[in-house]
Amino acid sequence: MKVNFVILLVVLMSVLVACSSTPETTGKDAAPIVFVSIVPQQYFVNRIAGDLVDARVMVEPGADPHTYEPKPSQMAALSDALAYFAIDIEFEEAWLARFADANPDMVIIDTTEGIEKMPMLFEDSHEDEEEHLDDVDHDEDELDPHVWVSPALVKIQAQHMYDSLVEMLPEHEAVFTENFNTFVGEIDALEADIEQALVGVTSRKFIVFHPSWGYFAAQFDLDMIPIEVGGTEPSAAELSMIIDEAREEDIHVIFAQPEFSTKSAETIAREIDGEVILISPLAYNWLENLQQVAQSMAEVLSQ
Ligand SMILES: [Zn+2]
Repeated sequence: MKVNFVILLVVLMSVLVACSSTPETTGKDAAPIVFVSIVPQQYFVNRIAGDLVDARVMVEPGADPHTYEPKPSQMAALSDALAYFAIDIEFEEAWLARFADANPDMVIIDTTEGIEKMPMLFEDSHEDEEEHLDDVDHDEDELDPHVWVSPALVKIQAQHMYDSLVEMLPEHEAVFTENFNTFVGEIDALEADIEQALVGVTSRKFIVFHPSWGYFAAQFDLDMIPIEVGGTEPSAAELSMIIDEAREEDIHVIFAQPEFSTKSAETIAREIDGEVILISPLAYNWLENLQQVAQSMAEVLSQ
């Protein structure tokens, strides 16, 4: 075991040395900068463009994309950017116009164009109709912005990225096309894998703190029960409603997200004698992450 570890270290170190000693003739330094809002989008751009562009993320890892406030250094970096791939998440509403002011030459692409959004699913959607009508905290019109958790919708976003990259950097069309086709092929395979993983499940209902997984649930015919109510922690009454539902549905796992508080997820888990499993929709390696999430859900829903 110890020997293996030493070998691994030596291999890692030689990889590091190899990387740092390679002279940078072309590549990152010279590559045009494009901005994206969230980390998975950086992965999409990198899959299509490799190191022919330098993809930078606005919402830094660990931060909440609904309420993010860009840093002055990020605003400054925008002035060198060729393009901004927007994903229509809340913070963009307030900032996109300012980004355009910071760099009027920057092309802003809405990668969600053509995606039909669903209404945001809130916890109170399982209350009965009368109670539901009385609820004033709930914004009926809010649409679910988490469009990157559905492979089908990511194909649409990747298509927009591909189209505009080809338009902006036509000299790299051949590489972009090859990479894009490979990526789409892997997304097709991912969809098949996820469907396969969910074939044997005994329940299709899962509980999650922040309602990030609505489009994933919609694509794979699952039923998401969110804990969070309109972006806030649930009240004691709302909590006990979810606890009752979890007991009725024989649910023993509560999914939570590392970017948000896990307090109420833990409270529910304690009450149902279950456990909290962390899943993030914001991991860099989107493909691998979705595979793991599907695997974890398949296990949980088969218990
Ligand atoms: Zn979210």
